[in-house]
Amino acid sequence: MSYRHKWSNGEAISLAVGKIVCIGRNYAAHARELKNPVLSEPMLFMKPVTSLVDISNPIIIDWTKGLVHHELEIAVLIGDKLSHCNKQQAFSSIMGIGIALDLTLRELQNELKQKGHPWEKAKAFDGSCPLSAFEPVESFDTLDDIELQLSVNGSVRQKGSSRQMLTDIVSLIEYISSWFTLNPGDVILTGTPAGVGPLNPGDKLKIDLIGHISIQTVVQY
Ligand code: ZN
Repeated sequence: MSYRHKWSNGEAISLAVGKIVCIGRNYAAHARELKNPVLSEPMLFMKPVTSLVDISNPIIIDWTKGLVHHELEIAVLIGDKLSHCNKQQAFSSIMGIGIALDLTLRELQNELKQKGHPWEKAKAFDGSCPLSAFEPVESFDTLDDIELQLSVNGSVRQKGSSRQMLTDIVSLIEYISSWFTLNPGDVILTGTPAGVGPLNPGDKLKIDLIGHISIQTVVQY
């Protein structure tokens, strides 16, 4: 059962599933909680197509590889081919908004960081990007105050708004396209607010893009 993009009404989106471009430390409070410096420009990394799974299915984790942290993130579905685009082109390329988890093997990531190695093993493993269906961008009044919230076993762990981003969504797309081409079907994960922490077997998650998407899912044993 391979992942396909779909709309929140269940209709399929007829775009090939592409790469996932992720932004690190786009919320100052999260950069501080991991004792990382706040950056002056976006930090980019990618996840492959094979990291994508439907977030409403039970989340499957390989517990032999160390702590897996949840990072709740607003996901942006790109509908155009973009290279060195301007803000207007970036804005009009946005087809849909969804919500995702950037699952991270945190202990392994810290080891890799210390060695100065790339993060892929900690960030790009199979199933590391549980992603929701997308809500059409037209149903959002603004991109600059989209609220997201994650509760684990009934208590709120992460809560934030796109208004807290160091680089806003449109500027992120413009910046990414200055380094590599975005294709229709690519997804941007826009960074995580504070409150990241480990997932445990059997955790019950409630994941909200407030006013738009609400999902209940579980972490498998
Ligand atoms: Zn992240």
